[in-house]
Amino acid sequence: MPKALSFATRLIDWQRREGRHGLPWQGTRDPYRVWLSEVMLQQTQVSTVLDYFPRFLARFPDVQGLARAEQGEVLALWSGLGYYSRARNLHRCAQAVVAEHGGAFPQTWALLQTLPGIGASTAAAIAAFCFGERVSIVDGNVRRVLSRLLAFEGDLAKTPAQRALWDLAQTLVPEPGAFQAEDMQAYTQGLMDLGATLCTRSRPACERCPVQALCQAHASDQVARFPIKTKTLKRRSESWWLLCHFDPSEGGWVWLEQRPQTGIWAGLYCPPVWADEAPLRERLSGVALATINHRPAVSHALTHRELSLNLTVVRVSRQGLKGLGEQGQWVALGQLDGVGLPKPIRTCLDALQPD
Ligand code: SF4
Repeated sequence: MPKALSFATRLIDWQRREGRHGLPWQGTRDPYRVWLSEVMLQQTQVSTVLDYFPRFLARFPDVQGLARAEQGEVLALWSGLGYYSRARNLHRCAQAVVAEHGGAFPQTWALLQTLPGIGASTAAAIAAFCFGERVSIVDGNVRRVLSRLLAFEGDLAKTPAQRALWDLAQTLVPEPGAFQAEDMQAYTQGLMDLGATLCTRSRPACERCPVQALCQAHASDQVARFPIKTKTLKRRSESWWLLCHFDPSEGGWVWLEQRPQTGIWAGLYCPPVWADEAPLRERLSGVALATINHRPAVSHALTHRELSLNLTVVRVSRQGLKGLGEQGQWVALGQLDGVGLPKPIRTCLDALQPD
């Protein structure tokens, strides 16, 4: 087991010399910005977040503004990032910070976790970056780094092993006395940077690693064996049929309905959708064949499901069409940026050709 001081010293020195410094959410102690970036970075590439983060901040520069927003606007700004429960929790969390904490984020790891959507690792990032608390982040990347460093034999698909690794992670954080509170920022960033840039999932760059001399997996030439994770995610396959009513006049209009507040794509907008083909065929009975366009099926992976999306576009005139349902509305193609749309739906709608 490496000495905490030695590991922390090497990591902090490396982060200050060679780590990432230019990301727009770095160099701040504002919990709002740190929290927003942490939530966006879950399951999402840095390059994608670089696009969304400034746009979101420009519209909602502080937690009060976000708390006051309509959920639909938050989801619209999140469109394309996926995992939309993050956006709904972000909104609920902002409301809780304002309503229950006077608009200021709590300052400890323990209290931060009482807020909606803030788990242990996000709470640790906020507590360490903003308040210098000696608590370790352990997200997916960091688990990989630490499991290799310690040649950790536990099965990280299981909660007890995750907890055990967390306990070990806590023994590695900079010790009080030997380090200043601001060192926790460099340490936390160093863990993230090491996992993102050197200790990567495949082909880690051990020859350039600042903690190589302490790494037990490297010493025993077993880097590829860690992390140990037995469970493989099984995705259920499902087919969806969607009917897009498209009026190509006046720049193009589509009929969109809001999804229920729970389940897949909760609260987002989408053409009418069915779990089997029969209702779609029924809707199309009597419709002129020349106006119907069946698109090739598109696959879309969710956490637990593999969706096959079968989209049919039917050209209509919205003036001549009545009774499409009360929960929907006509939306101009030019206004789609203001509507929360799942990414594959947005891609399909962007391909429509108005007259
Ligand atoms: Fe990861 Fe290699 Fe560094 Fe070990 S030596 S922590 S496996 S990059």
